[in-house]
Parts: sequence; structure tokens; C-alpha cells
Amino acid sequence: MRLLAVLLLAAASCQPHENPPEDRGPAILIVAVDVGQGASALVVGTDGSALLIDGGASSHVGAVRDAVASYAGGRVDHVVVTHWDADHVGGLADFLLGPDRRARTADDGAAGADLWDYGDDGNCTTQACERYRLSRTGRARVVELGQVLRLGDAEAECVTVNGRVAGGTAFTTTDENARSVGFLVRHGNFRALFTGDLTGGGDANPDLETPLARHTGPVDVLHVNHHGSAASTAATALAMWRPRAALVSVGEDNSYCHPAQSVLDRLEAQGARVFSTGAGITRAQGSCRATSWPPGSAVLGTVEVNAYRDGTFYVGGEQVP
Ligand SMILES: [Zn+2]
Repeated sequence: MRLLAVLLLAAASCQPHENPPEDRGPAILIVAVDVGQGASALVVGTDGSALLIDGGASSHVGAVRDAVASYAGGRVDHVVVTHWDADHVGGLADFLLGPDRRARTADDGAAGADLWDYGDDGNCTTQACERYRLSRTGRARVVELGQVLRLGDAEAECVTVNGRVAGGTAFTTTDENARSVGFLVRHGNFRALFTGDLTGGGDANPDLETPLARHTGPVDVLHVNHHGSAASTAATALAMWRPRAALVSVGEDNSYCHPAQSVLDRLEAQGARVFSTGAGITRAQGSCRATSWPPGSAVLGTVEVNAYRDGTFYVGGEQVP
């Protein structure tokens, strides 16, 4: 046995791509699903358990179904809805209701999963919200700060919900983005943060990012808030997060001018590699400037991240230093 271990170590040291003599154990998989102008992410734990965060707009429910099927083998244990905007909840409602768009029928998606959101105050009356309301009736639970979802050896902890931030800061707000539910995913030394469209003080929105960053400290991967809007990803918070990789969920030639150049500049200044689901603004139109991606960025469509408990991780198969 000892001899075998020595031989294996010797074999491993001959590999051109350094690392694992020591056993790094199983990876978790993070997927930023390409849902155009919207957001949806999937986290698959070390035991195959899966967390689905948002589901893009209704038009992109197919991408969500495909991602759950191909990356999680159709399994979903936990569903988190960050907030009630249609570009997060529309596709998710359709996924949960299934093709017949009726609740509690055989074609429902993620039928056995726990469903978490910040609650329903009845404010949102769009078609997307009405469908989501139908899908959550009788099953959704209000997520609490500090709540932990198990993903095998990894876990996801709720760090912001409905204007409250882990560590004690609270805002009373009706701003849908500021109410976003956020989770910090941990796998050993590796950390990734998902906080929907959380606001960071830009465009006169409340700054929840700074108290959140003070609480979380550094993260390896940041799922960039609000598709790279200038309202979020403030310099103060970013200096505390210091992400090595930033995932931007954004549609090509969207009407919001996402991602904001100021956000990309801040990510570049912080040394983060930027990986995007969509191309952003391909040519200037109206008030939108063409997106100038920082050096080392990549537009990947659906973005796959494999992360190990020693903190090493790969985006699209390439290790991020
Ligand atoms: Zn959004």
C-alpha cells in the first residue's frame, strides 16, 4: 500500500500540470447558466446534491432545464429565489410549474426540492410574479439569515435577505434589488458569493454590499450583482471581496447597457478575471457604449467552475491563479 502510494506520487509529479500529489478530494461545480439578460446559477455539491439559484426570464426556461439535466442529472435539492424580478423568477416559475404551467402536476420541475425566498408581500403583480406565486404556494419557506443548505462536504449560508445583512446591518426598503437573498458557498478554503441584484450604493440605491463584504471577507468567485449594473459592485466592497474570478450574467446588446464599464474597470483594478455568459454591448447604440472587456476576460456562454477544498479552481477547464 505504501509502495503504491509512493508510485502514485511519483506518477503525479511527472504530470505537466503540477498540483495534486495531496488528495484535493472531490470538486464542487458552479454553473452560471446562459439565460441571456437575466440570471440563473447552479451549484452541485460533492455528493451530487444541487442548489438552483434563480431561473432567468421565462424565455430562457429551456436553458435552465438543460443545465439541471446535464450538470445535476436532473436532481435539485434546494431552490433559492433571490428576488421577484422577471429576469430571475420568470424562467424559474416555468421550470417549477413544468410545460403545463400548472402547480402540483407530474411535469413539475424540482418537485422534491426545498424552495426558499424572502416571502411574498403581494407587491409584484406581473405575469411572471403571478406564475411564481402559483408555483410557490404551499411549498415556499422564508429563508433566514445564517441558514445553511448542505451540499455534501460543501455548504451554502444565507448572508443577506430582504434588506438585512449578516453581521447586524438592516435597511427598511421596498427596492426589489436591495431585498435580494444572498448565499455564500463554502467548500473548504474555497468561497463563492451569490447575491442576486443586491445594491451597492450606486445610482442612489442603498449600500448593502459594504456591510456584507465586511461580514464575508474575501471570496474566490463573485457572481457579480445585478448583471454588472453601476448600482452595484462598489469599490469599497470589492476591495474587501478581492475576487479572483468574477462571473457576469448578462445578455448580448441588452437595453440596460450592462455590464457598466465602471464595474468592469473596478474588477480589473482589483485583479479579478472576468467571465461572462453574454457579450454585453457589441456596438454602441442609444446611450450604451460598446463593452470593453478587461484583458484576460472571456465570454463563455454558460460558465462552468470546478472548485476544490484547497481553494484551487478552474473556469472553463482553465485554472485561475
Ligand atoms: Zn436582474
